[in-house]
Amino acid sequence: MKRFVLPYLRLGISRRSLLKAMNCVLLAWIVMGQAAAEETKEWKTTKGEIWQAEYLGKGDDDYVILQHSPAKRQSYRIEEFSQEAKDFLTRRSAALGTPLDDQKLAKMVRLPNNADSTIRLPLRFILVHGIVMNKNGVAMRMWVSPQQVKESILPEINRIWEKANIQWDLECMIDRPFEEIADSKNAIASIERSTRDGMNVDNARRTERIGALSGVKQSHPSIHQIYLFPFLGSTYQGFATIGGNVAFLGVFSDKASGGKKPPTACLLTETEPMKFGSIGRTAGHELGHNLGLLHPDRKTQKEFHRLMGGIKHGYNLTAEEITTARKHAILRAEAILAAAKSTSDPK
Ligand SMILES: [Zn+2]
Repeated sequence: MKRFVLPYLRLGISRRSLLKAMNCVLLAWIVMGQAAAEETKEWKTTKGEIWQAEYLGKGDDDYVILQHSPAKRQSYRIEEFSQEAKDFLTRRSAALGTPLDDQKLAKMVRLPNNADSTIRLPLRFILVHGIVMNKNGVAMRMWVSPQQVKESILPEINRIWEKANIQWDLECMIDRPFEEIADSKNAIASIERSTRDGMNVDNARRTERIGALSGVKQSHPSIHQIYLFPFLGSTYQGFATIGGNVAFLGVFSDKASGGKKPPTACLLTETEPMKFGSIGRTAGHELGHNLGLLHPDRKTQKEFHRLMGGIKHGYNLTAEEITTARKHAILRAEAILAAAKSTSDPK
């Protein structure tokens, strides 16, 4: 009879160190699994088939959208899946919440009673799924979960904006499969190549392409929305329109190394003083742009460690910035209230 020799004996590794190593591998697998488990899943059908497919989001009514391979995306009726898959979708839907109508959005808004009191505004997050981007050997995809938005990113945004007494309340989150545009593949490759310095063709259409792939045309007209996208181009972490209501954040970035090292998953939050710039801090910064704020002029800047950047980035807002941001927040609140009034008035 052939004797079975365990590989660790053959290699002369002690059993204890092998178990230790196995524990490390297991731990690494669990940690990586947490990032992957959200989007890649086994889908068992009622016919007993098992598919490995990435979850992209829920379509209209009772449809779920899956990505089988980069080229194969399909919608399925939820009833085609096993109970386990249905349970996953129920949990996911509950975590995301539902977009509200104009009347309910208006109820989330609070105008200030006096010059300093709290302004409350609804905030929506869109998680863009299905894009795998590559830079320096790193595969980047959506990894932020609804729980992480709710428990880390949103509280950090509110911690930052408390200085201006502006409070953001989560309206809902949306899982959005990326929008297939005419040249999706080239558009994604162009974003991967783009860098902050050069005035080349990749940079020129960067924000437009990210918007198109994210389905920005489907944005709500009046509330603030934050789109989470895998990667926005080398050394970028976010962008937003000044005075607008949409902002984009990358969940991977190479900004900390100035683009010299491969991108890494961004921190959700970080302790002060700021070192890398977290998703929470970038969200706070981009909302600042939406509320009418610009980057400080480095030549005349007197206050430092500011949310809006300049010399030494941080979390501070100047008195002038607070006044400007509150003015914009009140205009935004009034627009939401006006939309509710126009839809409730008899025609
Ligand atoms: Zn900025």
